[in-house]
Amino acid sequence: MAPPAIHKAPSAGTVPHYLTDYDSARRQFTWQQERRSLAGDLDSGLNMAHEAIDRWVERGQGGRIAARFIDRNWGRADVTYAELQGSARKFANVLGSLGIGRGAAVATLLGRVPELFSVALGTLEAGKVFCSLFSAFGPEPLKTRLQLGHLQVLVTTDGFYRRKVAAIRDTLPELRHVLIVREDSKEPLPPGTADFAQLMSRASDTYETAPTRDTDVALLHFTSGTTGKPKGVTLTHAAVVAQHATSQLVLDLHPGEVFWCTADPGWVTGIAYGLIGPLTCGATLIVDREEFDPRRWYRILAEEAINVWYTAPTAIRMLMKAGTPLARERSYPRLRHMASVGEPLNAEAVIWGVEALGMPFHDTWWQTETGSIMIANFPACEVLPGSMGRAVPGIEAQVVRRAPGGKLEIVESPEEVGEIALRPGWPSMFSSYLENPERYQASFIDGWYLAGDLARRDREGYFWFIGRADDVIKSSGHLISPFEVESALMTHPAVAQAGVIGVPDPIAGQAVKAFVELRDGFEPTEELRRKIMGHARRQLGAVVAPREIAFEQSLPRTRSGKIMRRLLRARELGLPQGDLSTLEGNA
Ligand code: ATP
Ligand code: MG
Repeated sequence: MAPPAIHKAPSAGTVPHYLTDYDSARRQFTWQQERRSLAGDLDSGLNMAHEAIDRWVERGQGGRIAARFIDRNWGRADVTYAELQGSARKFANVLGSLGIGRGAAVATLLGRVPELFSVALGTLEAGKVFCSLFSAFGPEPLKTRLQLGHLQVLVTTDGFYRRKVAAIRDTLPELRHVLIVREDSKEPLPPGTADFAQLMSRASDTYETAPTRDTDVALLHFTSGTTGKPKGVTLTHAAVVAQHATSQLVLDLHPGEVFWCTADPGWVTGIAYGLIGPLTCGATLIVDREEFDPRRWYRILAEEAINVWYTAPTAIRMLMKAGTPLARERSYPRLRHMASVGEPLNAEAVIWGVEALGMPFHDTWWQTETGSIMIANFPACEVLPGSMGRAVPGIEAQVVRRAPGGKLEIVESPEEVGEIALRPGWPSMFSSYLENPERYQASFIDGWYLAGDLARRDREGYFWFIGRADDVIKSSGHLISPFEVESALMTHPAVAQAGVIGVPDPIAGQAVKAFVELRDGFEPTEELRRKIMGHARRQLGAVVAPREIAFEQSLPRTRSGKIMRRLLRARELGLPQGDLSTLEGNA
């Protein structure tokens, strides 16, 4: 049974929301209008970086802080919109001086540092394709991605270059230039590389934005690799229209507001909402250069006076694990909206937000392929804990079933599970899977894009996540949602996280097995196992409850924080583990 809806906390309603009435927002919204209000008519050209920064400088607001970088020792470095524009333009000129042509791809392998932003925006400004590689990747995953993306320029540090790139450089004939952001200027530059700072210091900060069009490719992202080998996904400059609209409608970002997106720029969220979308809204980005740490995160929320926070279920569950009292050691009077993405957000976590921080987390659903948020709980609307929310204005989303003859049918019953389908035509829809046109084609059926996720849709249009199509369990003719079982397990006080899979069963077809990570202070005893099992049975009934529970120190996760159920399954069944390039802790 679903927990009750959460209505907006009264203290949070101090800013007028962009979306106040969902139904009328949906009726009034058109992408043409959104495109026009951001960047003029279709024939006017469109450039992501221009929309993100130049517009503000042109309006005389270049002195506003675009980003604040926080280092390990709490040193803060602020970059204004005008400074970011200057460094982006310098980098655009550097690319010109290196003879890099339009449409060529430029990658970064950097931590969360200002140079990454300059390179990203400069590359876009110059009409080239930007790709941010996750900095914890080792040589093999880097090689695969650099080759697949035909990357011509790589900006990285000397340390990363020596440890990860030098040994694979010979295998990358298309990689023409490696630019080094030097950590230690006394060390000689590695052979075959150039000094980033030196090139930048010689470059002019005057640059005329390349006349890019809506359909020109702007970004290359690699998916998280949760269900298999990561896919290369391209987004066009038009994606900025949807990233802007959703930064307003879903994240509710106003000019001058302080926004913290905890996603790393190595994943799509870290660029769409860690850089582009919020800047188009005139917000100030907070960028923590360090890794997750509960105390540190609460300090940032409080001291940086974060207004809007966008984070992920794993982080939320780890904060829950660290306990509510820690959250309450500080107060967050400026915080007014919290949202989550990347994995199913358990009702328990939504409600914990109210308990610990005074407001619910608002779940949002999207994918690398969709390029922007598609389904969301909106700040001014009631939150249904455990639901992903409703389709964003401008997005037609349905739950569908496959009918004979390759047709799709819209599922009308709120009880029936089907696949999430989106009607193509929104501006940030991916334009290709790199080197895999067949797979791209296969994602579109009967006039819909099929996302590969299963859900239910209730009469009010709220979507309820069931699981990845690959993860769903079929037991004795029932379709069992791993998410539902995991959420029920998490309501037991000892359970911090759970991953649920189906294992072969001679009678039922599949049986449910749960892998459970305990909260601090609980011992993995036989007695506890029985208690959790009993709790799950009471919540779920005997058919759906796990038949087996295994305790794990930590569940296998992708580096972007998603539970890798395919790996739990492979290990359980003794099958090949598949692509492990995005497995956390894997060098
Ligand atoms: P791969 O495609 O390589 O297996 P991935 O699908 O995890 O990896 P992403 O594009 O980063 O790569 O993630 C999108 C997926 O994340 C969605 O398809 C969905 O399964 C999951 N997801 C994102 N947000 C939510 C959410 N709010 N609730 C449930 N699942 C979500
Ligand atoms: Mg995917």
